[in-house]
Order: sequence, then C-alpha cells, then structure tokens
Amino acid sequence: MQEIGHWINGQRVAGTSGNYGAIMNPATGEQQAQVALATVAEVEDAIAKAAEAQVKWAAVNPQRRARVFMKFGALINEHMEELAELVSREHGKTIPDAKGDVQRGLEVVEVCMGLPSALKGEFTDNGGPGIDLYSMRQALGVVAGITPFNFPAMIPLWKMAPAIACGNAMILKPSERCPSTAMRLAELFSEAGLPDGVLQVVNGDKLTVDTLLDNETIQAVGFVGSTPIAQYIYGRAATNGKRAQCFGGAKNHMIIMPDADMDKAADALIGAGYGAAGERCMAISVAVPVGQETADKLIEKLVPRIEKLKVGPYTAGDDVDYGPVITEASKNRILGLINSGVDQGATLVTDGRDFTLQGYENGYFVGPTLFDNVTPDMDIYKEEIFGPVLTQVRMDNYEDALQLVMDNEYGNGTAIYTGDGDVARDFASRVNVGMVGINFPIPVPLSYYSFGGWKKSAFGDLNQYGPDAFKFYTKTKTVTARWFSGIKDGAALNFKAMD
Ligand code: NAD
Repeated sequence: MQEIGHWINGQRVAGTSGNYGAIMNPATGEQQAQVALATVAEVEDAIAKAAEAQVKWAAVNPQRRARVFMKFGALINEHMEELAELVSREHGKTIPDAKGDVQRGLEVVEVCMGLPSALKGEFTDNGGPGIDLYSMRQALGVVAGITPFNFPAMIPLWKMAPAIACGNAMILKPSERCPSTAMRLAELFSEAGLPDGVLQVVNGDKLTVDTLLDNETIQAVGFVGSTPIAQYIYGRAATNGKRAQCFGGAKNHMIIMPDADMDKAADALIGAGYGAAGERCMAISVAVPVGQETADKLIEKLVPRIEKLKVGPYTAGDDVDYGPVITEASKNRILGLINSGVDQGATLVTDGRDFTLQGYENGYFVGPTLFDNVTPDMDIYKEEIFGPVLTQVRMDNYEDALQLVMDNEYGNGTAIYTGDGDVARDFASRVNVGMVGINFPIPVPLSYYSFGGWKKSAFGDLNQYGPDAFKFYTKTKTVTARWFSGIKDGAALNFKAMD
C-alpha cells in the first residue's frame, strides 16, 4: 500500500503517529493509498523549522524571490500531465478538468512573479519640514494554509504562492483525501529553488489543524472548505490573535431572464451544474428562470442535454463529462438529499439515484439529477448538495428572483443570463454576493483580481489571491523620518581655530 508522509525541510519524510487516513479510488471504491496523520510534536517541529527558514527567505531580495516563482511556473507547465493525473487519481475528476485545476493555480503563481511591484510601499516627500514618510510591506512570519479536497492543485497554490511570495513560510495542510498533488507541488517548488523549510506540507486531520490554530508562532491562517469548519477555524484563530481568512460553502443561483439566449443558458447550466460532479464551490446549483414560459423552455432545453452526459472514471477518456463524487459518505448524503426533495414535493425531472456503471459498481457515481418546482423551504434548496444535482426555483419576476438570491445565507457566486444591459447592471450592482457573472456561469475572477464570497461563504477580512493576498500576507510598517539641517546649512567646512 502506497504511504504518503509529510514534506519537511525539502524532503519527504514518513509519519510517526501510526495513524493513517485512507485514500480511496472514488471510481472503484477501493483504497489506493494511506496518508500519515501528523502528531502534535510533528506539527510543532515543522513550525519551528519553518520559523528559522522564514527569516532568511524574507531577507532574500524581491527580484531573487520572484525568480524562484518563474522557475516554479515553468516546472508546473512542464509537469502538467503528471499533476493532472495525480489530481484525477485521488479526486476522480476528468483529466481536462484536472488540467484546469492546475492551470488556475498556475495563474496565481504567474502573478506572484511580479512580487517586487506588488510589495512596493508608499512614499511622501516632505510631509513636514525635513520630514519624509514611507511605508513598507513586511512578511508576517510563519502562516498556515488549510485546504479542501475539491481542488487539490489550485487551492494549495492559491495559499502557498502569495504567502511565500510575500516572504512568509507556510505550513500547508491539504485535504487528507487528496494530498498527493500538494506534496508533488512542494517538490517542484523546491526544485525551482525555494529554500528548505519555507514550505512544509503536514498531512493530518483535526488534531493537526487545532495544533496550527493554537501555536503562537503561526501568524495567519488561510482556510478553504465547508462553512461550519470555516466558521470554527475563523473563531479559534481570531481568539488566538491570528489574522484569518476562511472561505466556506456556497449555494450559487443563476437567474435566467425571458430575453436570455436559452441554448446558451442551458449549456452554461449543464457545465456549471454537473461539471466536476457538482463538487465546486462556484457550481451553479439553483436555476432561477423568470416567468413560467422561461422555466418550461429551460427544462425542455436541459433534459436532452442531461441525457447526453457521459458519467464515468477519468481513465475512460476525455469524452467523459464528469466522474464520481469523493467518498461513499458523500454519495449517500447526496442520495439522501435527492430522496428528501422527492418527499418534500419537488418534481424530479431526471433521476440520478440508480446510476450504475459496469465494472465500477462500487464507485461513488451519482447520475445527473434535475429538480423542478423547488421551493426555498426544501432541504435541497437550503443545503449545499455538492453533487450533480441541479434545482429549478420558478420566479414570476426579476425583483422576486433577485430577492431569492439576496435572502440566501450563502454569497459566493451568482450569475444572470439576459440580453438586457440595464437588468445586468442592476443585478451586478444590487446583489449581495461576492462574485457575479453576466452571461458567464462560473465567475471565478482571474488571478490578478481577488476571489471571495460574502455572507456565510467567507469569514474574516480580504479575499484570496491577487492584490488582496499581498495585503493579507503582509503587515504595513510606516516610518516617519526627520533629518535635521546639518552639513548643508550650518556646518563650517574650513579649518579654523577653536572658538
Ligand atoms: P471540509 O470543511 O470538510 O475540509 C476542509 C479542510 O478542513 C480539510 O483540510 C480538512 O482536513 C479540515 N477539517 C475538516 N474537518 C475539520 C475539523 N472538524 N476541524 C478542523 N479541521 C477540519 O471541506 P471539504 O469537504 O474538503 O471541501 C468541500 C467544501 O469546501 C464545500 O463546502 C465547498 O463549497 C467548500 N469550498 C469553498 C471554496 C471557497 O473558496 N469558498 C472553494 C472550494 C471549496
């Protein structure tokens, strides 16, 4: 059985706890590897070594630090196929989707290549007589990154790249279900010239996370995962005086106006609803057509598209549309929610519950499921399903549709499909959601903007990657300097007798 340990001081080390997490093959339901779960002593040792390395790393001039990122980016590109395979093997997503996962992380590394500009301070000449003011952005020290299973490459890169670019050292705790990609990325970062100890990958579970949250050396915590854990981590980190940004779950709506291009809207809903088996925090899980006619047309367009979807293991080739969900527990939870939708009176238009695939009977597959006539009191509306289940909530007019989105407790992403610029502008301006798409289903901002939701989708301050990350991972120091008038004005340069 393959065993995955930790990445400490520039090398792979075996875990010592004797406790392991099982890494399953989601397509077959068989265990394929085990990951060591760190002890408190292992986590503390990793932090202490990182603290030593960080001081030297922060002293490396910004251009030299940037060169490590240039090399790292090149290595990620070179190893794209291998990294995508690692992602797919543990997560189950298709290879083209896994490449997107790596690519969207790589783009954040690319922005970090410009770190000398991003970290420039401010300067005021002559703020008073003989007085100049300037500010510096300085590293925090050792920071922690805790990441979810659903983007095994992208989100570890969103955490490690900006934190390290700013001169910090990072302890990364990837998901125990998909740890191999983060381990390989750490190896490539090291090959690119990152000094030992600046990035430590410590695998583990709640014990590891709690040790990071309580350790005094850790200055900041960047978390991505489900809302209850985000809220817990934010609370504990903040109580311990740490800077924290914790990104949580989502329930993303797409409003479809009567004037929308219905084929394009349906295509967008298929990709955003069922891609990656719905295991994306930016997946669209609620379609909100305005008007009964729009709703009927949308169902008409969606059903044949759903019937054509090909579900299977990533190894079956690139024409597979999506793969299994991550665990058996996750599959059972999704099936339970579909049952609740039926029991609570929603119309089940396509039913993915009995999906089976020859040779993969024990895999965690769920067929594409579509519900119509969903209402906000139903569990399938209230819960983040995180599976290939699209729900349709019919609304009579734009204002009611907007209000539905506004009343939802999550605020990660949302989209509107319309041919009317006035409605689109109104929506973008008024909606209380962090990322908005206009005729664009998954509006994950490009890497030179920042990513973050509102309401229960994010706790703490500032967004991740882009300009906000350079602020989150640095402290501002402002210097007021006065130089008294001296040699220039009053000093006598001629050799003269003592007075
Ligand atoms: P999760 O919350 O179960 O786990 C995330 C991380 O927290 C993992 O590293 C895990 O080991 C750790 N963890 C789990 N339980 C813990 C506990 N009790 N105490 C301390 N640490 C704990 O999330 P997941 O299932 O891996 O990922 C899916 C969730 O992540 C979804 O809700 C999805 O919406 C969300 N997500 C959000 C974003 C975003 O940017 N907002 C992005 C991707 C995923």
